[in-house]
Amino acid sequence: MAMKEAYLYEKKEHERVRCFLCSHHCLIGEGKRGICGVRENRLGTLVSLVYGKVIARNVDPIEKKPLFHFLPGSNSFSIATVGCNFKCRFCQNADISQMSYDQDRIRGEEMTPSMIIEDALSSRSATIAYTYTEPTIYYELAHDTARLAVTKGIKNIFVSNGYMTEECLTDIHPDLHGANIDLKSYNDKFYQEQCGARLAPVLKTLELMKKMGVWLEVTTLLIPGLNDSTKELKGLAKFLADLDPDIPWHISRFHPTYRLKDVSPTPPESIHRANEIGYEAGLKYVYSGNIPGDKGEKTFCHGCGELLIDRFGFNVSKNRIVNGRCPGCQEAIPGVWA
Ligand code: SF4
Repeated sequence: MAMKEAYLYEKKEHERVRCFLCSHHCLIGEGKRGICGVRENRLGTLVSLVYGKVIARNVDPIEKKPLFHFLPGSNSFSIATVGCNFKCRFCQNADISQMSYDQDRIRGEEMTPSMIIEDALSSRSATIAYTYTEPTIYYELAHDTARLAVTKGIKNIFVSNGYMTEECLTDIHPDLHGANIDLKSYNDKFYQEQCGARLAPVLKTLELMKKMGVWLEVTTLLIPGLNDSTKELKGLAKFLADLDPDIPWHISRFHPTYRLKDVSPTPPESIHRANEIGYEAGLKYVYSGNIPGDKGEKTFCHGCGELLIDRFGFNVSKNRIVNGRCPGCQEAIPGVWA
């Protein structure tokens, strides 16, 4: 596939370019790549090295994103390219997200946006999820695919670290229906030391997505000793509740991986304590992640406490929501249901 000129950058003097796709705002000299490793300055033109190079594609339940209040039980055709603008020491997909630094050659299967749409249609997927690594860094592919998907009645979902700029969000949001954004910590030092990024741009993205009307759920991976203090979790939960108490918050269990192999898995009690902190802050829907069979996987009505959606892992066994309402008390349940 021909090299794709990047979107959202500007040319500078001496053949340099400034990328404003994500909040790193890389200034890239001729022949060099940005922090994500997949955008390269070629003679003063910024190009995407991953356009149409799909490294992963799967038909996933939407619950795996996780999105719990968005077409429950539906298929989400999920894709990724290599590369990421973060360097999280606890990355669960480091084999593909960090591949652009580890290897010079960009790997991936050649797929055009229309081929992706065909696969989504034939797998009866209601959505296309841009996920696994970071959709922002393969923005040109995500953007072109999302635009085409809408014309075929397919919705689009970003599963993202939330580091895109306001320019990027302004550009994509008409075609973006839902997002799960990682709020990895409520501490800037954690973002700097563990992820190679900053906290403030992520908070801004959450605010902008709400303002733009994108359905938003948030995930926090709880890592023992690193981001699980009661004080930090209270701050995080309050931020979300002040933004919108309807935001579902997924608190997910950590398993030792990549550069954090020496940290133990999150005890389920910590997840339950964080759940309580979320509800105390005023959030209506708080969920446990990576603990199959946990009570915190189910959706209970925030009005009357009725069981609305029964889940085990990513599997929905019962959905009692009717026309977006609780069948018991008729309370409207926030989400995208049809
Ligand atoms: S998308 Fe890549 S090149 Fe652009 S600002 Fe972010 S890290 Fe830098």
